[in-house]
Amino acid sequence: MPEQAIAFPKHVQEKLLQEASESLIHIVARPPQVMLRGQGSYIWDAAGRKYLDFVQGWAVNCLGHSPRVLVQALSQQARTLINGSPAYFNAPMIELARELTTHSALDEVFFGSSGAEANEGAVKLARRYGEKHLHGAHEIITTWNGFHGRTLTTMAASGKAAWDALFEPKTPGFIRVEYGDLEALKQRVTKQTCAVMVEPVQGEAGVILPPAGYLEGLRALCDERGILLILDEIQTGMGRLGSLFGYERFGVVPDIMTLGKGLGGGFPVSALLARRTCSVFSPGDQGGTFCAQPLAMVAGLTVLRELIKRNIPKRALQRGEYLRKCLRALSVEFGFTEVRGMGLLVAVELSSECAAAVSQAAFQRGLLLNAPRPSTLRFMPALTVSNTEINAGLEILSDSLRSVSA
Ligand SMILES: *Cc1c(COP(=O)(O)O)cnc(C)c1O
Repeated sequence: MPEQAIAFPKHVQEKLLQEASESLIHIVARPPQVMLRGQGSYIWDAAGRKYLDFVQGWAVNCLGHSPRVLVQALSQQARTLINGSPAYFNAPMIELARELTTHSALDEVFFGSSGAEANEGAVKLARRYGEKHLHGAHEIITTWNGFHGRTLTTMAASGKAAWDALFEPKTPGFIRVEYGDLEALKQRVTKQTCAVMVEPVQGEAGVILPPAGYLEGLRALCDERGILLILDEIQTGMGRLGSLFGYERFGVVPDIMTLGKGLGGGFPVSALLARRTCSVFSPGDQGGTFCAQPLAMVAGLTVLRELIKRNIPKRALQRGEYLRKCLRALSVEFGFTEVRGMGLLVAVELSSECAAAVSQAAFQRGLLLNAPRPSTLRFMPALTVSNTEINAGLEILSDSLRSVSA
């Protein structure tokens, strides 16, 4: 695609920003730029400025911005059938369920639109299982700093201490323990416990890897106690960790798994997958107006087929290794205290709490980068990112780090 700068005149940009401040509920501090279009690893704002994008929606555009296959599949489906109603089958719904269950260790699927919706479904399913098979056990053990979404239930499941006082009363029945501490978790399992719910790698917490043996230990514990293991793979699934699903990297199969983010390659779609033995919803227990609508299903199908056809998870593994190698080399100059990650979910720990300033400096220089913690930078580029783009990004990062330390 030619790099012609498509831009809005200055007065149009100003009008948009004015209207934004008047009409949008202020939920997050956004810079005064309006994003206009994207292609691959790049995004352009309304002034025509180009940014290398290592945020990619929020780890959702796994094939980059507006990949041709997705554009074609969505346009074709939009012409054919946008919404056939959740009350009826549609072909893409069945095909995507078929492909997800063929390529994963799980058997049945429910589709939603957001990650939080899939996780709500997982909580409901685990409680239903508790009701049917565990004498009404309903508690779910989750972890501190875990992130599962922003509905009242998924906020309660998340382990953000700052959220505890918000919007009370939230859904009860969640017990939080330290991530990575198998013993602590074991001690909290009671007759009331129906499930354990964790991220294979904690994403929003700043890319926290599980200690060796942790997920295997959780699997063994759940088997021993007859409770369910729920893996929230909304961030780690769909190739991000260098395998199609994150659990493959650990050799641990969950009873329930949730997918979101990368599943639609930017289009909102999520999935709740379950093993046959714990797929215990009865008709009427679960649903949604937008569940399994054809446009979302086609997005998921296209992304899944593309990941498999082009062996993209393996490519993400190699690119991730390259990115970490380059970051470790930069560490000599900038004294990072840690470079960590798996596949293309990568973070660096800075030696001081200047991550937000670095991310802002990078934005000024044309690189989008996330700072999930005061001293942590997170990289979640497209899984199709090239080594050249990684090099370009790290050059901007280096300039930004120098400017902040100066
Ligand atoms: C992003 C995320 C969610 C929430 O997904 P939404 O689509 O924002 O509702 C849940 N769990 C994990 C691990 C996530 O990264």
